[in-house]
Amino acid sequence: MNRKPRITVIGSSNVDYVVRSATYPQVGETIIGTSFQEFMGGKGANQAVAAARLGGDVSFISSVGADSQGVQIKENLSNECVNIDGIYTSPNNSSGIAFINVSNDTNKITVIPGANYDLLPEHIDQQERLIASSDIILVQLEIPLETVSKAMELATLHSIPIILNPAPAQPLSAELIGKTTYLTPNFSEMQAMTGLDLKNQQDLEIGFSQLFKQRVKNIILTRGEDGVIFSSHSNQTLQEVKSVKVVPVDTTGAGDTFNGALAYSLASGNDLEAAIRFSNLAAALSVTKNGAQLGMPTNEEMHGYAS
Ligand code: ATP
Repeated sequence: MNRKPRITVIGSSNVDYVVRSATYPQVGETIIGTSFQEFMGGKGANQAVAAARLGGDVSFISSVGADSQGVQIKENLSNECVNIDGIYTSPNNSSGIAFINVSNDTNKITVIPGANYDLLPEHIDQQERLIASSDIILVQLEIPLETVSKAMELATLHSIPIILNPAPAQPLSAELIGKTTYLTPNFSEMQAMTGLDLKNQQDLEIGFSQLFKQRVKNIILTRGEDGVIFSSHSNQTLQEVKSVKVVPVDTTGAGDTFNGALAYSLASGNDLEAAIRFSNLAAALSVTKNGAQLGMPTNEEMHGYAS
C-alpha cells in the first residue's frame, strides 16, 4: 500500500483528573492532597492516538461539550495528527471527564460520560462517506449502543472490516456480535460475554465456540502479561501469542494501545497473526511508561524491536 492505512475510530473522549492524597476525605471533610495531574483519555481517543502514532491516517468520530475540556480534547488529537472533523460539539452536556482519587495504591473513580452519550446514530449517518472510504473501523462501548450499532451497520453495508473492542463489558445482541470482524475482549470482558469462568483450556474453547456460533469472524482475547489467545471462525483452533517481556511501569491503556495497533496493522494489509504480534509489542512498550497516551509507541520506536 502506497498510502497510509485509513482508520476511522468511533468512540469516547475524556479528560482524566488524578488527585492524590494520603487518605480519602470522609463525608463532609476537606483534606489537603499531595498532587494533581491531568491526562487525556477515553477509550476512543486513546485508540485513535495509538493508531496515529504508529502511522495511520486516523479520523475520529466523537462528541465533546462546548467547554474548555472539549477544546483541549480536540487540540490534543490534532497535535497527534488525528483528523477531528468528525467530532461533534454537544450543547447539552459537559465533555466526558473522570475524577480519579488515588490514595495508598487504591483509587476511587467517578466518571461523567457527559457529551459522549450525545453521539447519536444521526451523527454517524453524516459520516457515511468517511466510514465507506476507511480500510477498517474501530469501535468500543463508551458511547450509546445504538450509535455503535449504526457505525457497524454502515461499515457492513460498505464491506469495511470492523474491530469491536467490547469495553466496558455489557450485554450485546447476537446481531451486533455477528457483524464483528475482529472482537477484542480482555479476560473479564470475555468472562462477562460468555458467562464462563474461563479457568482452563476447555472453558476457553467453549467460550470461543459460543461466540463463533453468533457468527463473529475472529476473536482476539487479550490477557495482560499472559499475552493473547486468538482464533478465527474458519478453523476455530485456539492459538497463543506470548506477551513480550518488559518491566511494567503503568499498564493503563495497554488494551487501548493494543486495539489501535491492531487496527493500524490490519489496515496496512498484514494477516491476523502478524497484526497480533505487532500489537502485542506495541502494548508491551506502552506499559513501560506512565500514562495511557504518553506511553504509546511511534512506528520508529517499534522498528527498534523485533516483533
Ligand atoms: P487496560 O484496561 O489496562 O488498558 P486491558 O485490560 O484492556 O488493559 P490487557 O489484556 O490487560 O488489556 O492488555 C492488553 C495487551 O497489552 C496484552 O494482551 C499484552 O499484549 C499487553 N500487555 C499488558 N500488560 C502487559 C505486561 N505486563 N507485559 C507485557 N505486555 C502486556
